[in-house]
Amino acid sequence: MTQLTNNELWQAALGEIELSISKANFITWFKNTSILSIKNGQVTIGVPNGFAKEWLENKYNIYILRALKNIQDDITSVSCTIASNQERSFVIKEPSVDAVLHPKKIIQYTEKKPVFNQEANLNPKYTFDKFIIGGSNELARAACYAVSQNVGRIYNPLFIYGGVGLGKTHLIQSIGNEILKNNPQLKIKYISSERFTTELIDSIKNRKIDEFKSEYQQIDLLIIDDIQFISGKEKTQEEFFHIFNSLYQKNKQIVLTSDRPPKAIQILEERLLSRFEGGMIADISKPDLETRLAILHQKSAATNLKIDADALEFIATNIKNNVRELEGALNRVSVSAQLTKKELTLAYTKKILSDLLSSGKRKGITHKHIFKVVSDFYEINQDDLIAKNRKKEISKPRQVTMFLMRSELQYSYPGIGDKLGGRDHTTALYAYEKISKELKTDEKLNEEITHLRDQLYSLSS
Ligand code: ADP
Ligand code: MG
Repeated sequence: MTQLTNNELWQAALGEIELSISKANFITWFKNTSILSIKNGQVTIGVPNGFAKEWLENKYNIYILRALKNIQDDITSVSCTIASNQERSFVIKEPSVDAVLHPKKIIQYTEKKPVFNQEANLNPKYTFDKFIIGGSNELARAACYAVSQNVGRIYNPLFIYGGVGLGKTHLIQSIGNEILKNNPQLKIKYISSERFTTELIDSIKNRKIDEFKSEYQQIDLLIIDDIQFISGKEKTQEEFFHIFNSLYQKNKQIVLTSDRPPKAIQILEERLLSRFEGGMIADISKPDLETRLAILHQKSAATNLKIDADALEFIATNIKNNVRELEGALNRVSVSAQLTKKELTLAYTKKILSDLLSSGKRKGITHKHIFKVVSDFYEINQDDLIAKNRKKEISKPRQVTMFLMRSELQYSYPGIGDKLGGRDHTTALYAYEKISKELKTDEKLNEEITHLRDQLYSLSS
């Protein structure tokens, strides 16, 4: 028998292991691994971090040993070592168009770093390689990936729908980021439907509607997020329909998301509905336990967070609604651990998350709770939040209120405007974006918001 190189042996073993465990786990745990050495039948595998070591040695040892033995029967044991600067030793096999159509057949692709692109309005952190695949998002993920490889030629429009915090925005921005790294000459635009509406209205006001339209005519990939918000807005739907048609006829790609399927978007013009239904529709549902766990492992490894495996399991078991809450919980324990310099054990994690869990998650919280904690904190009258008062002492708390209604309760902008004394939705949009932006640089504001969130969750528990 000719001797295989370590790399050949590992590739062959990975091929077998991949068949026996879920794809989410395979990608999470076997990415960036390699065989470092083989001595007297003992194989040492290089892994990128402590999690992977623990996981591979405890849960996957049998699979690994079996796969290796099948190929080379003198192998007797396997152990893992953390190897820094671990080279990407296998190419992640991602579902592609082919994988969607023929699930057994899989095509390979290689990873490169995304480029930030202002014009496209894409967040470079939303990429396919950071997206954990599980049963709940597999189809949507595969469809998005397929579109990134076949812009305008395969699923048009692509319509992704599902509840909040399940990864829609992450996925559709991944399409844009993936295309940017392979075809940076393509013109991409990501926009929320609310922003789209606002820009449209502004352009009408400023008599720049022709410019607005011609800008959109030149786009190769148009991504509109949360399209449900154009429901009932006739003028917006009308203009969107024209833009849609002209792009569609030129085989330009359109990607849309919504919190519900097209049919369920009320007051959607018939002709738009049939356009949406003419393409590919994929849904994202709540992640299962295995996927939640894989997501937590990935996020904690990415930030080098030291947390016990059973603590992560506790979080994954208890936070079930969506990925945003999952991230929120992980963030929370991570911040607490930093502040108190405690180790993230199971007991400590339970303690930190107890109020979050006993509050029935965020279910019991309403905008009234937000009004109360904000006005208490800034020592103003609750009525002032609603009143037409432009004083600075009031306008900041008001913007914070709007921000929290959006971030914690996923209110729509028109909904926020309504609850705050019938303000325009653009005011709410402006407030949300302003606070979001300031949070990135303003530490004091960060502390305030963290404090307000804590208040909010302890109020409702
Ligand atoms: P949606 O647009 O559906 O409300 P987002 O795309 O904003 O949800 O996702 C919420 C957060 O959860 C984001 O930070 C996103 O990166 C993360 N997320 C969601 N799904 C996954 C996943 N499968 N793997 C990794 N991160 C995810
Ligand atoms: Mg979103």
